[in-house]
Amino acid sequence: MTLTGELFIASKRVKRDGGGFRAVQASTGQEIEPAFSVATTDDVETAVAAAEAAFPVYSQMPREKRAEFLEAIADEIDALGDALTERAHAESGLPAARLNGERGRTSGQMRLFARELRLGEYLRARIDHAIPDRQPAPKPDLRLRLVPLGPVTVFGASNFPLAFSVGGGDTASALAAGCPVVVKGHSAHPGTAELVAGAITRAAEKTGMPKGVFSLINGPGNSVGAALVTDPRIKAVGFTGSRGGGTQLMKLAANRPVPIPVYAEMSSVNPVFLLPAALEARAEALGAGFVASLTMGAGQFCTNPGLVLGIEGPALDRFVTAATDAMAGAPSQVMLTPGIHKAYTSGVARWASAPALSQVGQGQEAAGPTCGQAALFTMTGKDFLADPSHAEEVFGAASLLVRCADVNEMAAVIGLLEGQLTATLHLDDGDLDLARQLLPRLERLAGRILANGWPTGVEVTDAQVHGGPFPSTSDGRSTSVGALAIDRFLRPVAYQDLPAALLPVELRDGDAGIPRRVDGKPTL
Ligand code: NAP
Repeated sequence: MTLTGELFIASKRVKRDGGGFRAVQASTGQEIEPAFSVATTDDVETAVAAAEAAFPVYSQMPREKRAEFLEAIADEIDALGDALTERAHAESGLPAARLNGERGRTSGQMRLFARELRLGEYLRARIDHAIPDRQPAPKPDLRLRLVPLGPVTVFGASNFPLAFSVGGGDTASALAAGCPVVVKGHSAHPGTAELVAGAITRAAEKTGMPKGVFSLINGPGNSVGAALVTDPRIKAVGFTGSRGGGTQLMKLAANRPVPIPVYAEMSSVNPVFLLPAALEARAEALGAGFVASLTMGAGQFCTNPGLVLGIEGPALDRFVTAATDAMAGAPSQVMLTPGIHKAYTSGVARWASAPALSQVGQGQEAAGPTCGQAALFTMTGKDFLADPSHAEEVFGAASLLVRCADVNEMAAVIGLLEGQLTATLHLDDGDLDLARQLLPRLERLAGRILANGWPTGVEVTDAQVHGGPFPSTSDGRSTSVGALAIDRFLRPVAYQDLPAALLPVELRDGDAGIPRRVDGKPTL
């Protein structure tokens, strides 16, 4: 599959002169061919105008037609096969096995939302029939369903070049909702982006979608990205990346004459709590399991365990010894981009120079110019309470162990943590009372609470939540993974006393083939 470096604007491939930009081989930091076009202001205008023109057609299509589109995308992405893996490996440094799994997750997400469309439950359809003779006033006929917001901009994520980029979870859920998507590609993987954009464009053609249903444009975030977010026709934004970038987009969106929601996933250290009985029973296994989770994918998961809390004592010492031993054998790994590698090494250096922290674990030395070396630091709970700023995310395989004096100090530390994607408890029967006390605090802290596992690895299912209070995400009322992700791109509309001929099919009397609530009762 030959890459052309073209943009995809409303089903047309577009080449721009002017040199463009090249991807960088993650393992060497050297540029690789070909050159990729940078979108002009006119390209942004064309893509957004086409998305706006597509919206009335696409959003009104039968759910079955949109489901067929999503399934066609899934098939096209699967068919990209090794060519996709090879390019994504070159651009991200992620191993082929991980990328093959990610490709399956990407097409799986498309199929999940196709199923969601067919089930129709996401519409939250409800009918409250009129009671014309109700006293003292008649009750009107009211019917409700969710409708799509309008064109959506998605920013591809560097750390999931497939599952959270051009054809990833944000795109899948927005398309399922009925929203055309304009993707601002991540400059770290333009070749991967082109291959996936080709797959989506082919699927759109095969299933007869309107031309503006999907576009991919490349260019700097602060020009092309900002132009998309501030365009009045764009009605929502999906983003995964840095806290700085995400909060900047939130400000841009909030300052528009008509503000729009930004669903930004940004930074999370995913605290892990080693409760006393579990620690006593299996400190060694916990130490090894922790390092395996921390070093997976060079630590570049948003759910990486970047903070561990335990109670001071011999069992915690055994945990540290096991973790240190496991880390000593952990090879360095190529990081996603030279910029992310640089941010990681300076984050580790910042921890190394902090008087309250000491380094207790280190991975194998960097084997290449963009390889990250794992690192484990510790500090006391007392020092953490005096300065909680060390809990800021260091994106990569570095983690901070906070040695708390007792359970009260552990609880106090929780009170100082920022919002998180996940919180993990390692517990045994003897820890249940303590866990019960901590649980309400963890519900306020995080979007997903785990027991006796590790937060890396996010199942894409109906019951998943990948979201949490700020700054883990910009809006903790939502999830970006799992079936509920569709909610981000929908809003409710109530229809009062509309004639049946004007009602959407899902809200007419008789069997609509979807679950609904009719006069207060769930029906199938
Ligand atoms: P990033 O710098 O935030 O960039 C992500 C995307 O947003 C890029 O397409 C970028 O465009 C765009 N962008 C950034 N700032 C913008 C702004 N002010 N206005 C408009 N668009 C903007 O993230 P990254 O390059 O993927 O990685 C950098 C750091 O982000 C990492 O070191 C890590 O700390 C964090 N990160 C966190 C997660 C997580 O899940 N928690 C995931 C990935 C990265 P351009 O690059 O073209 O400017």
